[in-house]
Amino acid sequence: MTQRMTSQRIKILHYLKNVHTHPTAEMIFQEVKKDLPAITLATVYRNLHLLAEQGTISQMEVNKEYRYDANTCYHQHGICDECGKIVDFHQEELSQHLLDNIKTEEFKPECVSITFTGLCKKCSEVNKK
Ligand SMILES: [Zn+2]
Ligand SMILES: [Zn+2]
Repeated sequence: MTQRMTSQRIKILHYLKNVHTHPTAEMIFQEVKKDLPAITLATVYRNLHLLAEQGTISQMEVNKEYRYDANTCYHQHGICDECGKIVDFHQEELSQHLLDNIKTEEFKPECVSITFTGLCKKCSEVNKK
């Protein structure tokens, strides 16, 4: 049982690392199911929750839905308030700067997630009209 759980988790993680769509649990389930027909949506949820708790993946709430991403230590997100689109920014130095400059003695930060909210290009163009 433990063994099977592990291979399912690896599969989920592998899938997340290879997509840039910030999928929902449902989308992940549909994909992972192709290779692991026995997997259930509940298992996917449980594994995602676990991975998110460990900090291996990140979980974002967008329009009341959870979206997942493999690793956000060195990339940032912009979430559109209108349509819920998630855009990746790859400004590693920005994340590194925060990690280097955060003042704390009780905690050793290893990762930072940065989320900007606003409007995506498409929605900001619509709003102009
Ligand atoms: Zn938008
Ligand atoms: Zn991302």
